[in-house]
Amino acid sequence: MPAKGKHRRPKSQSFSRTIAIAGVGGVALALPLMGAAGVHAATPAAAHSVVKAAAAPAAAKTYAVKAGDTLSKIADAQNVSGGWKKLYSDNRSVVGGNPSLIHPGLKLTIGQKAAAPAAKSPATATQAFAPKAATGAGYTLPVQSASIGTAYKTAGSMWSSGYHTGVDFVVPTGTPLKAIAAGTVVSAGLDGAYGNEVVIQHADGKYSQYAHLSSLAVSSGQTVTEGQRIGLSGATGNVTGPHLHFEIRTTPSYGSDVDPVAYLRAHGVSL
Ligand SMILES: [Zn+2]
Repeated sequence: MPAKGKHRRPKSQSFSRTIAIAGVGGVALALPLMGAAGVHAATPAAAHSVVKAAAAPAAAKTYAVKAGDTLSKIADAQNVSGGWKKLYSDNRSVVGGNPSLIHPGLKLTIGQKAAAPAAKSPATATQAFAPKAATGAGYTLPVQSASIGTAYKTAGSMWSSGYHTGVDFVVPTGTPLKAIAAGTVVSAGLDGAYGNEVVIQHADGKYSQYAHLSSLAVSSGQTVTEGQRIGLSGATGNVTGPHLHFEIRTTPSYGSDVDPVAYLRAHGVSL
């Protein structure tokens, strides 16, 4: 029952590096969920501190992103000359293709160009997919168009499970969310860190979960058809910004997740 969904930094798999939803003026943050269920500390140890980077010359230091941060906010607070664009440029390799997606715990180098940890982050781009190719046989994407922020199973100590149990679709609050396939709603309501959440059981016995909704359009026990609107995306629960956290599970509960992207693809959905 503990609702501990987690989010971690964006991990990419392939194509188009796209800047999705770059915030106006600042940076629309996308959020990490840090187990509100109380099982683990809400914030990674170093999250709120700025520590001097060991052998760095000049005034280079490392800053650990904390909940609520945006690149522009950090740039201002740390007096980064060049502002958030410089900060982003210096940390492009760890932030990835989307400056609006930074997650608590992410380490940014301030004061000098970060040495590209190419080995571990070639990973960070945002995947974009075309809205029209989104429908498969009996299955569809939960959002018409979006980019994937944090991929499934991205590892991270800040998630109680040790990895991201779903995939995050970067969409602004109010985006219509659709049932990926016909099924029966097994729960619709507040669920801890997941905020407003809908869980639907499908004919194959799998469950789809949609979290952080701003509003719900279905209720428990209701049957839904493929593509039926189940609510609007939002930022309820433990998040620092709006997005849809989406999971595919083998049971209605947390902890039984399977790869949601692979599942959708297996059902003919392009993403
Ligand atoms: Zn998520």
